[in-house]
Amino acid sequence: MRQTHHGSCHCGAVSFEADVDLSAESRRCNCTYCAKTRYWKSFVGVDDIRLLTGADNLADYRAPDSLWPPDHIHHHFCKTCGVQLYSRGFLEQMGGWFHALNIAVLDGLSPQDFARVPITYENGIQDKQMEPPAVTSYL
Ligand SMILES: [Zn+2]
Repeated sequence: MRQTHHGSCHCGAVSFEADVDLSAESRRCNCTYCAKTRYWKSFVGVDDIRLLTGADNLADYRAPDSLWPPDHIHHHFCKTCGVQLYSRGFLEQMGGWFHALNIAVLDGLSPQDFARVPITYENGIQDKQMEPPAVTSYL
């Protein structure tokens, strides 16, 4: 069931609300960005994340291989504490604009709530996002 959750970075400068169905799916990926940030993402619509505070404190990082339209992804993290909050991207195969939400930054969830979120593994390092990589236990 889709619910509205509150999310924030570690220092609290950036906060937002997000509409997401945590019983549906989340994704862990072995690509260079997801692996380094320990990204735990869930795809939501472009209107499903609404920034509440900290717009000036939000960094906009674009990897060298995702700089040009129409395929580009903006990673947003807090300039003060460095916590990755969400990404905004445009990919034809995703139907246009979308958000990837880092569900680890949602507030008010219990360990049991987090443990119930189903995880799908992506072999992003080989551009096979629909397949799990050979090893998933470290992701
Ligand atoms: Zn912060």
